[in-house]
Amino acid sequence: GMPAPPSVVLGERQPTRQLRVGSVGVGSESPVSVQSMTTTVTADVNATLQQIAELTAAGCDIVRVACPSQDDADALPIIATKSPIPVIADIHFQPRYVFAAIEAGCAAVRVNPGNIKKFDDKVAEIARAARDHGTPIRIGVNAGSLDPRLLAKHGKATPQALVESALWEASLFAEHDFHDIKISVKHHDPVVMVEAYRRLSAACDYPLHLGVTEAGPPLQGTVKSAVAFGTLLAEGIGDTIRVSLSAPPVEEVKVGVQILQSLNLRPRKLEIVSCPSCGRAQVDVYKLAEEVTAALDEMEIPLRVAVMGCVVNGPGEAREADIGVAAGNGKGQIFVKGKVVKTVPESRIAEALIDEAMRIAGEAGQD
Ligand code: SF4
Repeated sequence: GMPAPPSVVLGERQPTRQLRVGSVGVGSESPVSVQSMTTTVTADVNATLQQIAELTAAGCDIVRVACPSQDDADALPIIATKSPIPVIADIHFQPRYVFAAIEAGCAAVRVNPGNIKKFDDKVAEIARAARDHGTPIRIGVNAGSLDPRLLAKHGKATPQALVESALWEASLFAEHDFHDIKISVKHHDPVVMVEAYRRLSAACDYPLHLGVTEAGPPLQGTVKSAVAFGTLLAEGIGDTIRVSLSAPPVEEVKVGVQILQSLNLRPRKLEIVSCPSCGRAQVDVYKLAEEVTAALDEMEIPLRVAVMGCVVNGPGEAREADIGVAAGNGKGQIFVKGKVVKTVPESRIAEALIDEAMRIAGEAGQD
């Protein structure tokens, strides 16, 4: 059956306006969604759709594609139509690509009206086109591209500078009575970023897109994003997240999904509860945990599997999990739903756990 609902929960979601990004709701009435961005040349339609398919399989809810050229803009209609998940066009400066993306049926557009205003003031027309097509817009403020006026006022990209910039950008649409907006205020420093989002959340009810920008290579970026998003989501702040890594985007999605699952904001599938091993371990815990993870990673049912190296915490954790092993003396006691079903030698522990997992999946209607 389904796992019991968590008995401890996070802070309540801060109420935000509800948007529809294609088929995905973004706002406090909807689950927090995971986004990523393709790294292919958008105009290479096959490569882009292939990457979107990989992101979707990893659990991505919404995908963003860059649109720096007319060729990319020309590819948007087919990508928006064929993508299994909503597509957001990411545009800087060029209003004509914004109109193209809206016409193409993109689920949303990321564009900063401040940039549009500076070069070719089409903000009113963009607001009208977006409203006519029901296309929401994300305003994305980044520390690295902060308005010079605000940089001069605040000396650097402080939380308050990011928030003022975002609210000013939003006001450029609001004055045309357009409010289907979500906002990000990204900074590479999680501490600055967290404070900026707290202030922004207090100052407006637009849905918030969380991101630590330029978060770095996988380990550093994962930790920075997990810490920053975890802090904010635990306070109920954040409606959609994007992990930025200097790594293939499918890795970003995996991290984003894990962050939401860690906070019980997304149902878990496979969860491995494995001990770190220590001087008491009586089996090779790392190897077992890896073998079991590799064999069961694709399972679509929620399943908690405990892999424990000795009898200190082993039986307790193994009993709490759906299935588990508590090792001792080169053998493993195999638990299913709290009961010992058999004892096997170390060489057969992984196999026994995988067999039991497959049997449970089979009973749940998935092989
Ligand atoms: Fe060490 Fe046993 Fe705890 Fe694993 S379960 S960390 S082997 S005491």
